[in-house]
Amino acid sequence: MKKFEKGLYIISTPIGNRYDITLRAISILKNSDVIVCEDTRVTKNLFKLLELDFKDKKWLTYNDYKSDIRRNRIKKALDLNEIVSMVSDAGTPLISDPGYKLINYIREKGYKIFSIPGPCAAISSLVISGLKTDKFCFLGFLPRNKNKYVSILRNYSSLKSTIIIYEKATRINFLLNTLSSNFSTFKLVIVKELTKIYEEVIFINSKNVHTYIEKNVKLRGELTIIIEIVKDIDIIFSDKVLLIELKKLKPSQVSAMLSKKSTESREKIYKRCIGLIKNENKKN
Ligand code: SAM
Repeated sequence: MKKFEKGLYIISTPIGNRYDITLRAISILKNSDVIVCEDTRVTKNLFKLLELDFKDKKWLTYNDYKSDIRRNRIKKALDLNEIVSMVSDAGTPLISDPGYKLINYIREKGYKIFSIPGPCAAISSLVISGLKTDKFCFLGFLPRNKNKYVSILRNYSSLKSTIIIYEKATRINFLLNTLSSNFSTFKLVIVKELTKIYEEVIFINSKNVHTYIEKNVKLRGELTIIIEIVKDIDIIFSDKVLLIELKKLKPSQVSAMLSKKSTESREKIYKRCIGLIKNENKKN
C-alpha cells in the first residue's frame, strides 16, 4: 500500500540553497512513480543532492507549449493510480514557470491535485524588502517593449500596492531609466541571488536613482525586483491640446510626445488622436 494518496503533487524546490526543501517534499519525491519536470538534467541533479534514487522513476518533461497528448499521458499515469510529482527548475511551479495548462486539464478531469509549498523568489524577496506587504501584486516578467512596460507599471501603480517583478540582470539599467523618466516618486529593492553565496539586497529610490544610472552598475545572476510607486496626480491632456498638436504632427508623434508627460499611455493617446481626426473629418 502506498504512503501517499494518488494524485498530482505540485512541489516547490530550492531557488538556490539546496537545503530549502521541505521534509514532506522530499518524502513525496522519493515515493513518486512519475516525475514531471522542465529539464531532466536539473531535476536529476536535485535528486542526487538529496540522495534520492531517480532510476526507479518514470521521467516526463513538460512545458505549457506541449499539446494535450502530453497532458493526457500525465493523466494516464493518474488513471494507473500512480503518484505523479511536478517540479520546475527552481521554486514554485506555475509561478512564471510551466504548469498552468496542465493543472487546468487535470482539474477538469476530476483528479486530486496537492500543493507542497516551499520557496518562491517573489514572496521570499518581498518579505525582506522593507516595502509594504499588506497588498502586493506579482507581475512576473514584463514585456520587452518599452511602451508596454511603462504602461503596465503605470496601470498597476494605481492599485496602490507593492509591485513584484522578475527581471534579467542585463535589463537593470533599462528598468532604472524607465522608472526615473516616468515616475517621480518610487522605492525599488533589487534582491539578487537570494539564498545563494552572492546574495545581495540593493535599495534605490527616486532621489538616488541617478547615482546608480551614472555608475552603470553591472549586475549578474537572478533578480527579483520589488517596487513601490507613488502615483502622480493624473495629467491628462485635453482634446484641445491634442488637436493643436495634431495640426503640426502625426498621431503617432503626438502620442509619443505627450505620453512622456501624461498619466495616459501612448496607446490611449493615439486612440484619442484617431478619434479626434475622424470627428474633424466628419465636420468638414
Ligand atoms: N518559479 C520560480 C519561483 O517560484 O520563484 C520562478 C521561476 S522564473 C523562470 C525565474 C526568475 O525568478 C528569475 O529570472 C529571477 O527573476 C527569479 N529568481 C529565481 N531565483 C532567484 C533568486 N535566487 N534570487 C532572486 N531572484 C530569483
